[in-house]
Amino acid sequence: MDNTVRGGLTHAASFPVERLREAETPLYYYDTRLLRQTLDAVNTAASHPAFRVHYAVKANTNPGILSRVAAAGLGADTVSIGEVEAAVAAGFPAADIVFAGVGKTDREITRALRLGVGCLNVESAEELEVIIEIAASLGVKAPVALRVNPEVDAHTHHYITTGLAENKFGIALSMLRPLMERCRDSEHLDFRGLHFHIGSQVTDLTPYRLLCERINALQEEYEGFPIPWINVGGGLGIDYADPDAHPIPDFDAYFEIFARHLQLRPDQEVHFELGRAIVAQCGSLITRVTYVKQGVAKKFVIVDAGMTDLIRPALYQAHHKIENITSTATEEAVYDVVGPVCESSDCFGRDERLPITHRGDLLALRSAGAYGEVMASAYNCRTLPGSLFSEGD
Ligand SMILES: *Cc1c(COP(=O)(O)O)cnc(C)c1O
Repeated sequence: MDNTVRGGLTHAASFPVERLREAETPLYYYDTRLLRQTLDAVNTAASHPAFRVHYAVKANTNPGILSRVAAAGLGADTVSIGEVEAAVAAGFPAADIVFAGVGKTDREITRALRLGVGCLNVESAEELEVIIEIAASLGVKAPVALRVNPEVDAHTHHYITTGLAENKFGIALSMLRPLMERCRDSEHLDFRGLHFHIGSQVTDLTPYRLLCERINALQEEYEGFPIPWINVGGGLGIDYADPDAHPIPDFDAYFEIFARHLQLRPDQEVHFELGRAIVAQCGSLITRVTYVKQGVAKKFVIVDAGMTDLIRPALYQAHHKIENITSTATEEAVYDVVGPVCESSDCFGRDERLPITHRGDLLALRSAGAYGEVMASAYNCRTLPGSLFSEGD
């Protein structure tokens, strides 16, 4: 693989083939140098004094990833008490953890308040009342933000769009005012602000500009209401088709949209919750070819990884770039690359052009650092994939 230069950084996306040959496959391989460069790029691009970046923990909860992100000084955005605990264990200060989710249980809310998380992002009137009850019984003031459904279309896959009126997330704009008042007036709540999230794998930045305009209008509508934080969520997408051309997303352009279009009040903070954009490109799923099978009309490369190790292709019709990292062949052939699981959707690529591939070769499924390892399952009684870091761990 070639070296890619971006923003003055040299990124050698090469794999330690000998180490990987000896490792048990399938496994996730993480390029820690690229992760560090990505975190540096985020911190540089978000250097605006009002900006605070959180990492959306659900993208990857591998402790080696979490501790590195925590060390870079980001906060954490979490969606279950398990994620809150994992973030605390990895070194994120509790005060820098926000906890979102439509179905937080009483046990989760209690534990989060006891741990002192920075904010609960509330998704309904019903949840807000439960938080008030629990905060009262613990004798604490619960820090809360209201998750508002901004009705901005992220133009992404319908399974990962979250900001539209009909979806289960957030509070409708039309239902917001009484909840804002409840937050302001309850002695058991400490109102932190408003939270938005429009969806995931957003590659056209226009929806973010529309989100800024929607937030500006809301801030005018709620003039006089203290709103210390605006949390604009995450969703910035990455280049799955050509990871070596864009190993690091264009964070400058992303943060610039908010710096330019969001009208902030004095002392107001803007929070961001990026998941995929931070961890996707540093991870690859490494898998070994078990068989090259000649069918009637097609050749199949059957690998030892399946949808249980990387479910995005089966779940979202996603495609990860596939590379044969051990082949020295100069000639190519066309293959379907499939896993061993008993489901027809267990397919990583159709009509993939690869160097002539043999049993025992290693393939890398690129850009798999986000929503990869963390979504692995044991369906078919399969073993969960391991992980390997380019340095340390
Ligand atoms: C999933 C999620 C994110 C992160 O999404 P990415 O697309 O990985 O950036 C941020 N905020 C909330 C509320 C989420 O649910």
